[in-house]
Amino acid sequence: MKNYDVIIIGGGLSGIKAFINLKKNGINVLMIEKSSYIGGRAFSFKDPLTGNYIDNGQHVIVGACKEYLNLLEETNNEENFIRIKNYQVPVIKNNKVSVLGSKFIGGSLGLIISLIQYKHLSIKEKVLLIKLLLKIKYINLDSDINKEKNFKKWLKINHQSESTIKFFWDIFLKPALNEEIDTIETKSALFVIKETFFSKNPQILGLPKVNLSTLWDRFEKINSRNIMKKTIVKKINIYKNKVENIILSNGKKLVAKNYIFATQYSSIQKILRDSNIDLNLKNNLDTSPILGIHFWFKNKITDDRYIASVDSEIQWIFNASKNHNNNENHIVISQSASSKWMKMDKKEIKKIFLKELNLIYPKANQKNLEKFSIVKQKDATFLCNSKNELIRNSVPLNLKNIFYSGDWVNTSWPSTMEGAVISGKFASEMILKSLKR
Ligand SMILES: Cc1cc2nc3c(=O)[nH]c(=O)nc-3n(C[C@H](O)[C@H](O)[C@H](O)COP(=O)(O)OP(=O)(O)OC[C@H]3O[C@@H](n4cnc5c(N)ncnc54)[C@H](O)[C@@H]3O)c2cc1C
Repeated sequence: MKNYDVIIIGGGLSGIKAFINLKKNGINVLMIEKSSYIGGRAFSFKDPLTGNYIDNGQHVIVGACKEYLNLLEETNNEENFIRIKNYQVPVIKNNKVSVLGSKFIGGSLGLIISLIQYKHLSIKEKVLLIKLLLKIKYINLDSDINKEKNFKKWLKINHQSESTIKFFWDIFLKPALNEEIDTIETKSALFVIKETFFSKNPQILGLPKVNLSTLWDRFEKINSRNIMKKTIVKKINIYKNKVENIILSNGKKLVAKNYIFATQYSSIQKILRDSNIDLNLKNNLDTSPILGIHFWFKNKITDDRYIASVDSEIQWIFNASKNHNNNENHIVISQSASSKWMKMDKKEIKKIFLKELNLIYPKANQKNLEKFSIVKQKDATFLCNSKNELIRNSVPLNLKNIFYSGDWVNTSWPSTMEGAVISGKFASEMILKSLKR
C-alpha cells in the first residue's frame, strides 16, 4: 500500500489550492474526487438536452478575490479571464441603460462620479446613497455594527429608499450573497461592500473566457498520477486520536500522514456518520439555490457582454458567446436566491424568461430560438446567517492529522470561490507548519 504525506478529499477549488500549495513544498499529495471532473461546484458539463457544454453557474468574481486570482495565475489561467475595469455594470430599467462604475476613473471617486450620472435614481436618492457609501467606507465591522442585524432595516435606518435598494444594493448583494435583500445580515453585506468598493484590491469584475472545467485542465493533466477521480471516500478509521486510514467506496484502504477534508460540509457529516462517529452533527447548513437559464439563438440578439436588469423577473444576463468568443449566440440568465423557481416546470420557466428577455432584446423571440436548457442548483451556496455561522466556527472532528477546507470554513467570506481558495491555503499552511515542528 502506497503511503502519502497528505490525502485531500474533494477536488473543488479549496482542494486544488491546497494541492498546489503542498506540492510546491515537496509534499507527496493525493487528491480523491467523487465525480468525473475537477472543480467542484465551479464546473461545466455536456448538456444532454442540447449537446452543448455549459457551466453550472456564471461564477463572477471581483478584484477583492485576491486568492482566487492568484490561483488563476498559478494554474496558467490569466489569459482565460476577462477583467472589466471599475466594475462597470450596465443596468437596464424600462429599456433605458445606465452604467454603474466609471469607464475611466477607478476607486471611490469613480464610483461616486458614476452614481452622480446614474439615471435610475433621483438626485435625493443619489445624495443619500453616496453619503451611506462613504459611511460604510470608514465603518469598523468589528466594533461599529451593530444594533440592526437585518441589512434591509439597516438600509432603511440609513435613509435608503425602496428604489435605491432595488436599483443599487440588490444588484450587487443578491448575487454576491445569493440571498434576498430582506434576509441578508448587515455584517455580511457590509463585508462584501467594503471588500469590493473600498479595499486596496484591483477594482475589476472577472468573467471566465472559457468553460469553467477547462480552467482546471492543465492542473489535472500535470497532476493526473496524483488525482483519483470517480472515487468516493466512504469512511475513516480512527486510532489513538488520529485518522489511521480512509476507506473508499470500492473497499480500498488508503493511508496518509495527514488528511484534508475539502468537501462540502454535508459530505463531512455523511462520512463521519458512515464511520459510526457520533458527533451530533445534525444541524445542516441552510442553503440557497441558483437558477441558470440558457438560450441559444439562430441569429445574434445583442453585443452586450452582460447586463443587470432591475424591473423584470431577470436579474443578470450574460452573453456567454461573446465572453467565450464563439458564434453560438448563447445567452445565460443567472437568477440568485431562486427558491421560487425550483419547483416550476422547465418549459414554464423558459416561457416566462424568453418573454422577459424579448422586452430587453427584441430579437430574442421564439422564431429566433434554437434551443434552451435550464440548470437548477438547489444547494448552490449556503446562507450567511447566525445558525450557519455557528457551524462555520466549529470543527466537525478535532484530531491531530485532520484539516478542513471548503467555502463553509469560516474565512469571513460568504460562500464563494474566494472563500474556498482561502480555506485551501489555510489548511495546507497548517499542515506545512505541523510538518516543520
Ligand atoms: C450555480 C452556482 C453559481 C455560483 N456562482 C458563484 C459566483 O459567481 N462567484 C463565486 O465566488 N462563487 C460562486 N458560487 C460558489 C462557488 O462555486 C463555491 O463557493 C466554490 O466553488 C466552493 O468550492 P469548494 O472547494 O469549497 O467546494 P466544492 O466545489 O463543493 O468541492 C467539494 C468537492 O468534494 C467532492 N466530494 C464530496 N464528497 C466527497 C467524497 N466523499 N469523496 C470524494 N470527493 C467528495 C465533491 O464532488 C466536490 O468536487 C456558485 C456556486 C454555484 C453552485
